[in-house]
Amino acid sequence: MALILPRIEEKSQVAIIGAGLAGLSCASALTKAGMQVKVFEKSRGLAGRMSTRKGDGWQCDHGARYFTARDPAFQNQLAIWLRQGIAAQWDTPIGVYENQAWQSSKPSDPRYVGTPWMTSPAQHLAKPLDIHQSHTITQINRAQQQWLLHTAEHGLLEYKPDWVILAVPAPQALALSQAIDPAIAALHGQAKTEGCWTMMLRFNEEIIMPFEAAFINEGILSWVARNNAKPQRTGEEVWVIHGQSQWSQDQIDADPQTIAPQMIAAFIAIGGKAPAEYSIHRWRYASSDPAYQPRFHCDLERGIGYCGDWLHGGRVEGAWLSGHALANTIIAAR
Ligand SMILES: Cc1cc2nc3c(=O)[nH]c(=O)nc-3n(C[C@H](O)[C@H](O)[C@H](O)COP(=O)(O)OP(=O)(O)OC[C@H]3O[C@@H](n4cnc5c(N)ncnc54)[C@H](O)[C@@H]3O)c2cc1C
Repeated sequence: MALILPRIEEKSQVAIIGAGLAGLSCASALTKAGMQVKVFEKSRGLAGRMSTRKGDGWQCDHGARYFTARDPAFQNQLAIWLRQGIAAQWDTPIGVYENQAWQSSKPSDPRYVGTPWMTSPAQHLAKPLDIHQSHTITQINRAQQQWLLHTAEHGLLEYKPDWVILAVPAPQALALSQAIDPAIAALHGQAKTEGCWTMMLRFNEEIIMPFEAAFINEGILSWVARNNAKPQRTGEEVWVIHGQSQWSQDQIDADPQTIAPQMIAAFIAIGGKAPAEYSIHRWRYASSDPAYQPRFHCDLERGIGYCGDWLHGGRVEGAWLSGHALANTIIAAR
């Protein structure tokens, strides 16, 4: 007589909202474990804040400047990227401008960048995944043990996953889930998120400064770097400059045309020049400074989870680790 085993219902359909490094690292681990994962991303591109702007004859990393790798799990991932030429160490000496003087920055952990673009590691993770770009999730509801996803571009999706994972910055997670998940308000309250005005300055000539990358500790700028100084960058001479975080946050809703001249003047004041062309970008949620670092949050019973830099250190490495740790918890609970 054949033995009939009861079928164990597995929650295996997972929707991940956000194709930044956290969402992609989570999707990658879940997919490898045999779960059926779809990633929904509002932009046309991937990688979130680990981004590169490309124009006619120029490119510029206008989000994350570089990343470090301190945790063994992320070091293993980095070793794969290094072997495959998707990342490289960036060993340019980095300066500090303070009290109107330049000095070298203190030695730090090695710094890495994606190659040839900052987006390359994310694109590599994304290759085997089922990603739906230009899908902005506007609302999430729960019905009959499944999740319903509403999008700005395609209305209510027919797809009804068992799990929904929000891999988006804290304020965007709050906006999406406060009506369905009481845990999100307290979680969001722990995260301090600040904006950053960023400019990409293009030149017809090489700009010589004491350092090709520097932290600026006075005035309205916080960082300047020659994008061409990074490994494998090609194209025109481009410098990226970041507004200081409190200054950026205080004028996050200002007209970019009033911000740009102030940032260019600050760049000239430390030895730079006026650019031939420029682009400006407002990062509304650039950085998180999470005092509380639970790594991720999830409700295994209802099938809802959160990952992202705001839950784990506020940086590229933390974003990857957060997504990875959430995936491992879901896999272990199956
Ligand atoms: C200017 C700047 C400089 C930085 N410098 C550094 C640095 O030097 N070193 C470092 O380690 N880190 C740095 N960071 C931080 C680093 O970029 C982030 O920590 C990391 O990239 C966050 O990844 P994430 O996946 O958590 O979030 P994100 O990269 O923000 O990914 C979230 C994704 O969700 C998408 N999304 C949001 N809402 C929705 C929605 N409703 N529907 C669908 N998709 C949605 C977004 O488009 C985005 O792609 C910097 C960031 C900025 C902006």
